Amino acid sequence: ATPTSIMVGTGRAAELGILFRKGEALQTLRSAQVVALDKTGTLTKGKPELTDLTVRGDFDRNEVLRLVASLETKSEHPIAEAIVAAAQRDKLALSEVAGFEADPGFGVAGTVAGRRIQVGADRAMAKAGIDVSEYFGIAATLGDEGKSPLYAAIDGQLAAIIAVSDPVKETSADTIRALHDLGLRVAMITGDNARTAQAVARRLGIDEVVSEVLPGGKVEAIKQLRAGNRTVAFVGDGINDAPALAEADVGLAVGTGTDIAIESADVVLMSGDLRGVVNAIAISKATIGNIK
Ligand code: ADP
Ligand code: MG
Repeated sequence: ATPTSIMVGTGRAAELGILFRKGEALQTLRSAQVVALDKTGTLTKGKPELTDLTVRGDFDRNEVLRLVASLETKSEHPIAEAIVAAAQRDKLALSEVAGFEADPGFGVAGTVAGRRIQVGADRAMAKAGIDVSEYFGIAATLGDEGKSPLYAAIDGQLAAIIAVSDPVKETSADTIRALHDLGLRVAMITGDNARTAQAVARRLGIDEVVSEVLPGGKVEAIKQLRAGNRTVAFVGDGINDAPALAEADVGLAVGTGTDIAIESADVVLMSGDLRGVVNAIAISKATIGNIK
């Protein structure tokens, strides 16, 4: 493309709230074959709700929720907010936390009312040597419903299975349909478990899923999607999306995302509307088309 056509293209994009931070991105984006999107906060609202809580044996539902929610007041994870909100809705009195520990991508632990509380994904329980196999059936059902199962342990005893659900954005399905109309393949990258990820992907018509990605693992996921020399555009919003935004052939940050994601991106969707991804690609194609 000529410098003039790039200027025209970036100008048209700016009018639609799409900021091309590098002229190169306008040229690369036209040849994208795969658009990969982060799940939480990009395809979904990033505001999960607690939907299920099943306690084991003699454990009391409200007491388990109270202890777990107390612990989660120390976490900044959106899942923690969902659990605390549920306890507040039920007017449970939360307690102080001692010795809080967060293990990113796994879960959290600490002492509440003299009891050791652990909450997290199945891999967090596996790490702690807590067997969750009796919940395999429930976890599978929750996953198939697009919910994320979590486990809670009290003093080393499995106490409950909890589920949170993060609704998809109204614009996600339309965006994916439009990307398909442009002949692109659509992939999703998530830290969520495989079953939940597949259910959400099925609902949205997503072609490829990379799930159970640890916070530092998104770059590896992009490399995986690039196999066979495919050109990959990645769309993300979070702190842990920044390295993947830099690694992808074109990184697109949702403008409502974190500063570090925006700084690492080649393209910024200022309005935060996911449909900007489609517009950015369409403009890229049109710009190159004009100078042929
Ligand atoms: P995601 O953005 O997909 O949730 P993360 O890497 O942040 O990915 O977390 C991966 C998983 O670790 C979560 O899905 C959850 O199961 C568990 N986890 C992380 N933080 C917490 C927390 N504060 N409370 C409970 N579980 C957590
Ligand atoms: Mg995110």
